Amino acid sequence: MAQDIVIKAKVVDGLLTYSSLNHPKEAILLLRGTRNKKEIIVKDLIIPPLALHGYSYASFPLYMVPMDSSIIGTAHSHPSGITEPSLEDLSNFYGAIMAIIGFPYTSERNIKVFDRNGNKLSFIIEDQR
Ligand SMILES: [Zn+2]
Repeated sequence: MAQDIVIKAKVVDGLLTYSSLNHPKEAILLLRGTRNKKEIIVKDLIIPPLALHGYSYASFPLYMVPMDSSIIGTAHSHPSGITEPSLEDLSNFYGAIMAIIGFPYTSERNIKVFDRNGNKLSFIIEDQR
């Protein structure tokens, strides 16, 4: 059974802003939140420890990701604008979901969320409670 994916509005803003600030380089972020059988809720973004601007997601050192169960996935930008995961992206999958933010990073339509098999997942954007 599929889980609902909920992304807080401020997280959506953060993904778009951070991607655009790093353009034309690839931006990498960690997604923090909660998950249970029913839903995955993305509540915060974490900029990974390290100056990562030289890395692409495919070479991102996952051993640097804090061992923290609140990290529920990763996000990275595709400056090419193509919001499909590459084979490297899928083989570097970490957590439950992977968000890809495609150039021009202007709206949530530039954000796609995938599971570890590369299936596109729909998500709901929620304002702060
Ligand atoms: Zn990628």
